[in-house]
Amino acid sequence: MADQDYASLLKRAKEKLPEKVATHERFTIPEAVVFLEGKTTVLRNFEDIVHAVNRETQHVLAYLLRELGTAGIIDGRRAVFKGRVSPTQIEDRIKGYVDTYVLCSECKRPDTRIEKDGRITILECDACGAHRPVAVRKGSKPIREKALEEGKIYEVIIQDIGRKGDGIAKVGGYTIFVAGTAKGATVKAEIEKIAGKIAFARVVRE
Ligand SMILES: [Zn+2]
Repeated sequence: MADQDYASLLKRAKEKLPEKVATHERFTIPEAVVFLEGKTTVLRNFEDIVHAVNRETQHVLAYLLRELGTAGIIDGRRAVFKGRVSPTQIEDRIKGYVDTYVLCSECKRPDTRIEKDGRITILECDACGAHRPVAVRKGSKPIREKALEEGKIYEVIIQDIGRKGDGIAKVGGYTIFVAGTAKGATVKAEIEKIAGKIAFARVVRE
């Protein structure tokens, strides 16, 4: 049948396509659309970027916040960061995320999955079968390492839960323990006590 001929022809044509080109076309990260809004920086197309890297929204956000050393929230399809962050800084961190959590170090393709092996995070490649431990990039200093202040309220994202059940947020080099919070939650936290780079906070409910 003519249809079958066409289908097999198409299949043969596809097989002849250089794979790198095909992959490259499929994997494009939208350029970050960034602007300032009051005392915050808005990443307008955050959700599109998350979609492109094909990872969990909270995971991408937590990485960006940690690397940018600031607090932030998801607001619809946008991410809103506290303070001024330049588009270059954001682009650089997104690239860092892709290198760390998306691209296979062997074949450089994005067809990967994050798997946990005990406490180790592994990046598994569906394209070539390679797997490697995820090495979080070292040496990237938080840009805005602003001192926390006792009695002040910060909007933070609970990135983890500590041994005693307290939520843990990281802001500008500080580890903040916030009791009574759930992982992934965005909360307003009032800093009660600071000891070195550790802080204890309570949730402020509105
Ligand atoms: Zn691979």
